Amino acid sequence: MSSYRSITERIYDFKAVELPPERKDLERELRRCQDCGVPFCHASGCPLLNAVPEINAAALSGRMRTALGVLLATSPFPEFTARVCPALCEGSCVQGLHGMPVPCRQTEYAVIEGGFAAGLVRAHAPARRLHARAAVIGSGPAGLAAAWRLNRAGVKVAVYEKNTRPGGFLRYGIPDFKLEKSVLDRRIRMLREEGIVFECGVEAGTDISGRLLSERHDFLILATGTGKKRDLPVPGRDFAGILFAVDYLTAQNRLIGGEIASLPEDCDARGKRVLVVGGGDTGSDCVGTAWRQGALSVCQTEILPRPPETRTPENPWPQWPRILRTSSSHEEGGERRWNTATLSFAAVPGAYGEGDRVSAANCSDVSWESGVPVLVPGTEFSLPADLVLLAMGFTGAEDGALAEALGCVPDRSGRLPRESGRPGGPKIYACGDAALGPSLVVRAINDGLRTAERAIGQLTFENV
Ligand SMILES: Cc1cc2nc3c(=O)[nH]c(=O)nc-3n(C[C@H](O)[C@H](O)[C@H](O)COP(=O)(O)OP(=O)(O)OC[C@H]3O[C@@H](n4cnc5c(N)ncnc54)[C@H](O)[C@@H]3O)c2cc1C
Repeated sequence: MSSYRSITERIYDFKAVELPPERKDLERELRRCQDCGVPFCHASGCPLLNAVPEINAAALSGRMRTALGVLLATSPFPEFTARVCPALCEGSCVQGLHGMPVPCRQTEYAVIEGGFAAGLVRAHAPARRLHARAAVIGSGPAGLAAAWRLNRAGVKVAVYEKNTRPGGFLRYGIPDFKLEKSVLDRRIRMLREEGIVFECGVEAGTDISGRLLSERHDFLILATGTGKKRDLPVPGRDFAGILFAVDYLTAQNRLIGGEIASLPEDCDARGKRVLVVGGGDTGSDCVGTAWRQGALSVCQTEILPRPPETRTPENPWPQWPRILRTSSSHEEGGERRWNTATLSFAAVPGAYGEGDRVSAANCSDVSWESGVPVLVPGTEFSLPADLVLLAMGFTGAEDGALAEALGCVPDRSGRLPRESGRPGGPKIYACGDAALGPSLVVRAINDGLRTAERAIGQLTFENV
């Protein structure tokens, strides 16, 4: 049911591509949600356990205040998920068994934005402050959710963020055309009004030591995300013009946010042939960003096979459908290739003393045998590229100064331990991508909430 601005209009700006849902369209769709026998959306779909059927029923009958109340009872920041969630609820919607699922995400959008417009979503400072102090390290969705939950319980919360502004990937990863940063700023303002202190531009473990953080707080929540990007160690990787997708997206977000005056040359796709290596969401965000910057061409490669158009018998409802996804960025143009491995990069000698600059990627088709990619002999080919963006995911949480100082280091899968801490020191909790591995905004929010609840459960009489 989603409707988008026309491609010819939207690729010239970075404003949100999706249009707010029309009331008449929503009503038509929400009627299909009523009288559902066993709604899987709520329990098997949504990590936050949003009461989707109740929200939908209230929205259909025009009881928007009730719908808002039910939504906010489980979800602290629905304005984020209403824009960027892949809608796990829709993947398990009963209507999706034989047709299109009910558009729950658009309903969420209508309810939360209607609530903001009506002045019903306001800051709520806790009625009573406790003695307990918490430091939340990292201000992505997990850190924000943990901070929100702790603050509501009366804990004094300081959020430490190494970037200039709070938000994590909500601000520096996800492009504005999916999530305009005014939406994030509106929520951060509210969290500040509620009493949460944000210390931005402060890297915990470096600008403030682990020891000081431990001395000043009763517990620490590490919501530091997955800082380690997966690299592609093939010949030519060091050529100029090959960079991590997240660094590229961050530069564009910083430009729009007014943090930098112009893009670094390598982060500007204008007039370039862009190759995105990696077929996931981050890669898709690079595609949309490159078109908006004025790329000459965009090609996205993925080593995995092309997903099926519909569910396979091994992936039945109500599991999340592992099917081909075509994002709004893909609809804007470009080529997508599957079963493609990048073997090396070619370069033209650099001008003006710069190093060799990438000019092409040498690739090969692969076939999959027992879950392992095997090069197909004789299928080698070359893809021209002046800018290569590596969007192959993340390998885990950073094991930097903070992890070392707190004795809380990632395990072999790159995840921080859920709970740690030294004798006599504060309890340390990890949440979000740092503990889960690379995930989703909705899962990070949920994990931040549950982690804060575990910490609240440990409060003693001295803390309160
Ligand atoms: C390009 C991109 C697009 C995405 N699109 C979507 C999408 O459309 N939908 C979706 O659901 N998910 C999407 N995701 C995934 C989603 O953004 C993440 O799962 C989510 O942001 C994880 O939240 P988090 O709070 O755990 O970590 P993050 O958002 O990564 O936040 C971690 C924060 O910790 C800070 N930090 C780290 N170390 C320190 C330190 N020592 N001191 C102070 N601060 C520190 C970092 O600067 C950062 O701000 C996307 C991810 C990327 C990269």
